[in-house]
Amino acid sequence: MHTNHFSMAVSHRLFRPATSTVKNIFSSYLIRSLSSSSGSSLDPEIDLKEAASQLEKSSSSSPSPYKGRNFHWVFLGCPGVGKGTYASRLSSLLGVPHIATGDLVREELSSSGLLSSQLKELVNHGKLVPDEFIISLLSKRLQAGKEKGESGYILDGFPRTVTQAEILEGVTNIDLVINLKLREEALLAKCLGRRICSECGGNYNVACIDIKGDDHSPRMYMPPLLPPPNCESKLITRADDTEEVVKERLRIYNKMTQPVEEFYRKREKLLEFELPGGIPESWPRLLRALHLEDLYDKKSAIA
Ligand SMILES: [Zn+2]
Repeated sequence: MHTNHFSMAVSHRLFRPATSTVKNIFSSYLIRSLSSSSGSSLDPEIDLKEAASQLEKSSSSSPSPYKGRNFHWVFLGCPGVGKGTYASRLSSLLGVPHIATGDLVREELSSSGLLSSQLKELVNHGKLVPDEFIISLLSKRLQAGKEKGESGYILDGFPRTVTQAEILEGVTNIDLVINLKLREEALLAKCLGRRICSECGGNYNVACIDIKGDDHSPRMYMPPLLPPPNCESKLITRADDTEEVVKERLRIYNKMTQPVEEFYRKREKLLEFELPGGIPESWPRLLRALHLEDLYDKKSAIA
């Protein structure tokens, strides 16, 4: 069975961002762990405009914890690049939440709200989650954060399309979009090295990446993330982590995301960051690129 990870779904409710041409096709999110069926009658009872106005209210400029700097950030990066790791490290450094839309969807699925039952319905019929849902969940999350006094966020997994970027543009002020990149051969090896413990669900990586340097690029070394002895004999590889599928996933990702990169590049918000290797090499350089090295030194000194 062919699985398209970035299928499109037709939305029955039309949202028209002010700057956009009319689009009634919303790209959708996939809940990967669930099996596919072909149902496509998506008509969530969610008013996107209402959701967008909530989002606007919830993200109106709150003061930044660090003078003169806002942390309304977006992380882009293809599957396997490790953006979750870097986003999460930065979020604890800056004291702003790391908001992954995939997590929001999973949390909603395990809750008992109105959205949740609609979401389950969608998932049962075709595993695609339309933009309205994501925007609505994001809006709820930012509103809750505002009530708790959060002063920024790092978005991970959104926006993935220009339409989503346009919607986001209309409702909140993104300061910076960090585009994490990794050489394709390293990326491929990392994806193929992924293992999951079938018992505890722990994530590991058995790939030891050591790419010799040449005239164009320095040596790249990324050690494996090996499981503890308890998990060793229980490791499994996800069925869709084959070379063919991973390559296809990357191809689709790039095709889909390049317009989003272009969108933010034009607005001078895009920071391209090529990961030079694993976390020990990459983290300090990323901080330098973000002009955060002082903050990190101060925090380390306190800790
Ligand atoms: Zn385990």
